[in-house]
Amino acid sequence: MARLFSIILVVFVFSVGRTQNLQYVKKVNHKLCSKAYHGRGYVKHGDAKAAKYIAAEFKKAGLKSFTDNYYQPYQFAINTFPGKITAKADNRKLIPGTDFVISLSSPGIKGTFPLIWVPDSVSTPEQLVSFVESSGEKDGFLVLSQQFKKLYGTQIPWGRGAILLEDKQPWWHVSNGRHVGRSVWLKIDKHKLPKTTRTIYLDFNNRFVEQYQTQNIAGYLEGSAVKDTFLVLTAHYDHLGMMGNKAWFPGSNDNASGTTMILDLIHYYTQHPPKYSIAFILFSGEEVGLMGSNYFVEHPLFPLKKIKLLINLDMIGTGSEGITVVNATIYKNLFQKLVAINNKHHYLAEVKARGEACNSDHCPFYKKGVKSIFIYTRGKEYLEYHSVTDNNVPYTKYEDFFKLITNLVDNY
Ligand SMILES: [Zn+2]
Repeated sequence: MARLFSIILVVFVFSVGRTQNLQYVKKVNHKLCSKAYHGRGYVKHGDAKAAKYIAAEFKKAGLKSFTDNYYQPYQFAINTFPGKITAKADNRKLIPGTDFVISLSSPGIKGTFPLIWVPDSVSTPEQLVSFVESSGEKDGFLVLSQQFKKLYGTQIPWGRGAILLEDKQPWWHVSNGRHVGRSVWLKIDKHKLPKTTRTIYLDFNNRFVEQYQTQNIAGYLEGSAVKDTFLVLTAHYDHLGMMGNKAWFPGSNDNASGTTMILDLIHYYTQHPPKYSIAFILFSGEEVGLMGSNYFVEHPLFPLKKIKLLINLDMIGTGSEGITVVNATIYKNLFQKLVAINNKHHYLAEVKARGEACNSDHCPFYKKGVKSIFIYTRGKEYLEYHSVTDNNVPYTKYEDFFKLITNLVDNY
């Protein structure tokens, strides 16, 4: 009897340990956001360091690989700022990443340049042209407010470049880094550039890498009943990387959150063998422009028509207001199923439908006719985005969200 009891206890403890693991997820998130991973981008091979860690986790979990080592290598062109970045407004130092960001389409630059403050009365491109021509300044930097935000990163025919003023710490992105232009563009927090500022000093070099070597990571578990049909769970593990040799963008919500959930789901499904095969794919290059997922659909590691459903997770670290499902209006039955599961178990405040949006790695699959949805969490408890301070996502509703996903996958 005592023996039977202890067996039951062991089974119980084991099965509790088999569900989602918030502690593990938080620990790995911190690790991937640490300085050692350089923001998982394209300076100091941050993406490759993250890939190595993820592939080791795949191996530890016993996933099968479509390739020799879970890697699917590919390349793309990317501009980088790997060295020291110095910027001064008059003589005040500006902090890279915090006070300002540089458009990744910018070339290197060195020198002191006069600022050409464009007044608010100038509001159309035509007015801007005549204002700049009348200023007579040939080697300066235009200072523009948000009404000209559409010009950011474009090539402008005057001076060396331009500054776009932001109301707060600016967001960086790297999706315009596949070509280098002639104009240097900065976004600066307007509180760091008072209107009395006359000059800007800039000193940084760019390095354009024609063929940056990177990799997707893919593995799978074979289905217990149906082997050649796949449910596919995806996330991107890359982030923006480094801007200069000091500022790194941790990407705790975007998308260490999705990456860690995929790793947690792998542990779950190794303990709960699935009916259908499940493929787990972690993409790189998402921030550059869905590079990894686009490469994958052109060079699939298994036929895309074998995919029954793909669920992409990107920015899932909040949840106080529920989740949004991209492509919900396309796949109405699937969406209704998700809502029904949520209503039955009271997991999340709201499961919200959204239409098509080519805003993450589900999109290239969807365009190829694969049934694909993209889920992100919503909540105002954490608003860090593409910032040097996106480093500690709360995972507010992680357990409930995890149960919702596994419940859907298990019953699909
Ligand atoms: Zn992002």
